Amino acid sequence: MVSPKIDAEPLRTILKLERKRNYANTAVFGGIDRYLNNWAEETRIKIASSPPLLARFYELQLDKPSYATWDTGKRKAWVTDILNWLAQPEEIACTPPKMAAQPHTPTVSHTTIARKTTTHPSEKGLDSPTTAVKGVAASIAGKLERLGGKTIRDLLYLFPRRHIDYSQRKTIDQLEIGQEQTALVTVWESRITRLGYQQGTEIIVGDETGNMRVVWFNQPYLAKRFRTNTQLVLSGRVSEFRYAKQFENPEWEIIEDKELIHTGRLVPVYPLTQGLYPRQMRTIMRRVVDEWAWQIPDFLPQDTRNRHQLLELPEAITQAHFPDNYLKKAEARKRLAFDELFLLQLGVLSKKRDWQESQPGNSLSVNEATVNKFLQSMPFSLTSAQQSVLQEILSDIKLFKPMARLLQGDVGSGKTVVATAALMVAFDNGYQGALMAPTEILAEQHFRSIGSLLSKISQTTEEQGNTCRYQGFFAKPLTFALLTGSLNEKEKDNLRQQIQEGAIDITVGTHALIQKGVEFQKLGLAVIDEQHRFGVLQRSSLRQKGFNPHMLVMTATPIPRTMALTLYGDLDLSVIDEMPPGRQKIVTRWVEPEKRGQAYDFLHQRIAEGEQAFVICPLIEESESVEARAAVAEYEHLSRDVFPDLRLGLLHGKMPANEKERTMRNFRDGKLDILVSTSVVEVGIDVPNATVMLVEAADRFGLSQLHQFRGRVGRGQKKSYCLLLSENPSPEGIERLRAIETIHDGFRLAEKDLELRGPGEFFGTRQSGLPDLRMARLSDTPLLELARAEAITLFHSDSDLSKPEHQPLAKEMARVWQSQGEWS
Ligand code: ADP
Ligand code: MG
Repeated sequence: MVSPKIDAEPLRTILKLERKRNYANTAVFGGIDRYLNNWAEETRIKIASSPPLLARFYELQLDKPSYATWDTGKRKAWVTDILNWLAQPEEIACTPPKMAAQPHTPTVSHTTIARKTTTHPSEKGLDSPTTAVKGVAASIAGKLERLGGKTIRDLLYLFPRRHIDYSQRKTIDQLEIGQEQTALVTVWESRITRLGYQQGTEIIVGDETGNMRVVWFNQPYLAKRFRTNTQLVLSGRVSEFRYAKQFENPEWEIIEDKELIHTGRLVPVYPLTQGLYPRQMRTIMRRVVDEWAWQIPDFLPQDTRNRHQLLELPEAITQAHFPDNYLKKAEARKRLAFDELFLLQLGVLSKKRDWQESQPGNSLSVNEATVNKFLQSMPFSLTSAQQSVLQEILSDIKLFKPMARLLQGDVGSGKTVVATAALMVAFDNGYQGALMAPTEILAEQHFRSIGSLLSKISQTTEEQGNTCRYQGFFAKPLTFALLTGSLNEKEKDNLRQQIQEGAIDITVGTHALIQKGVEFQKLGLAVIDEQHRFGVLQRSSLRQKGFNPHMLVMTATPIPRTMALTLYGDLDLSVIDEMPPGRQKIVTRWVEPEKRGQAYDFLHQRIAEGEQAFVICPLIEESESVEARAAVAEYEHLSRDVFPDLRLGLLHGKMPANEKERTMRNFRDGKLDILVSTSVVEVGIDVPNATVMLVEAADRFGLSQLHQFRGRVGRGQKKSYCLLLSENPSPEGIERLRAIETIHDGFRLAEKDLELRGPGEFFGTRQSGLPDLRMARLSDTPLLELARAEAITLFHSDSDLSKPEHQPLAKEMARVWQSQGEWS
């Protein structure tokens, strides 16, 4: 038989904390009374079979706590009493009959309680499933999981998207029509009523200043809940009905002794999913916060917290959900954002150390004469930005420390040329080089353009499909290969073998290059194009190719410096901030809805001249399949109704890779006039004959993305155009459209974009390999720099987090980063 006993540990912890805080009723959020109410209810049931326990329980007023109303002296006396009581195990565990028979052990000892906590450590711990929350059944748990909430801890970090301010309480005569307000009222009468075609609830309420009508559509069952004389808090927008004020579908809450959740405060608005309702979600979250927030260990070192006046973690989490006021909300955000940035920085720093210090790199010698000869043989001279970036790269690769550099440069700024020069240096040193692109078509493109460069300066002696050999420029012949997923197995095997034997000097490829089975004999330099498609993890696996190669990552999505330092803090930064001379500006225009026909006519004209066009379908965030369906519909509509005489192709994210590649190739080879596409076409595809880019619902895209789209045209000599359609842009949408019309510099656009939209949207897709940022704004430079500085200090003092005081932090790091896969 199970003996009735009290699980005293949580209460003991709280009361000790309360004592430490001088009985200010702050040890647990929502106050001691509220916590005790829950605790007492459960406990009373557990000990119901033990009259002596129950008696003591009542004597100590554990059942009807009124801590909040006591003065400090009384609080102190009471807390001391309870703690004393809890400290005596025999008092809080009732002796089971069998054990009572043993005279020398009349009671259950300490170990029973200790065991209780160890045998069910996760019974209601932070890592318990969400079903541990009262009222969360399996079906609701499934819905919570869809929102990313698998465990209690996940829920604590599932923050509201925003708060509605219902904290301004007004009397009925003060209520203003059209405003979101809150009133405390008494119900006079309540009835089910017919509102239009539906049944609803209508009540008449009043306070000392007047009466008013309140209606809810669709919720006739409410009528019964609001009996006459019920005290009610109503929050919502006040409207006018027959010259009188009324609340329509307000949030409501019956006043009991508990804290308000849905009304009369800053009310959280949570992300929802089908079948999960706002009230329900708030109620669940309130329970979770009350019961678990205080259990979250604060992993930040105390001195860090003090130095920057950061809230303690449990309080920050509580205030992020149910803030007392705006100030508290801001403080909570600061603490939580700091955590995210700080953990991110620490991870990124250790990543960099791993890359650079765990294995030495290969020092390459740079033969200036060869480099110059190569540069001089090109049909143009490097811009000064290209030159200085090349110098940075060359001085990096001379070191034994492997280079880890991020090269940023607008579309068409000439990154590839610089990378090619560096690859030639690697080759000149007897090392292999690799260039990785995110898609096959881009890999092919690189293979062609570098190939044509090489063929200008040397003789092509051997050429078969995927390999070329160039002779006469370097001291020895250079073998150049293309490795992509679309080769057949035999070809791939063959290439892999040659790479392994060192018979191939430079390989261009897709991620097939870093998949298992490709071993380089002597990889000296790896170049990764279009960083945002490659994660940190892929970068790591590149290093595992036996060698510790120098690495150059290139991106055309310009990122402001502080942000780059944060996200790619493991990389050093280079920027090409200058375009080659003579680059044409792409004429960019917002086409107003009534001029859509003219835009289509313009496409017809350009295509009649033998040019090609892109049409980008609206961004649909709901899901890729919905977006794909919309793209198909658009493609059919355009093919049938608008351009029946032209050859159209379709590209979307749900198509199989080979089909995508085929369509892209057909377009590039001029077999299609118009490519209708979702945003998948964003990355650097180069079709010099394409001169018009038409973007549907352009206001939905970010500026950087629009700039990327625009960069798909104007690749050749012909004048090129970007037409932006937008039916009904918001004021902010209009601001973006105006910006893209006038600003042609990718960096300035990126900054503008950040300013207008914030970083989450700025990056579009989540950065793979990095932890989520939920609270942090990458545009918050001061906090970012603070977190970075703190991380650097800590990293210098204890880089592997081995000091005892850093153990909680080490644990948190492991948790945050492990969910992203191994750092290696
Ligand atoms: P990115 O990779 O940065 O988009 P690329 O290296 O592909 O840019 O260069 C874009 C085009 O500009 C290529 O056709 C390239 O040959 C040409 N180019 C690169 N650098 C220069 C330069 N300094 N002067 C003139 N044309 C250049
Ligand atoms: Mg490029």
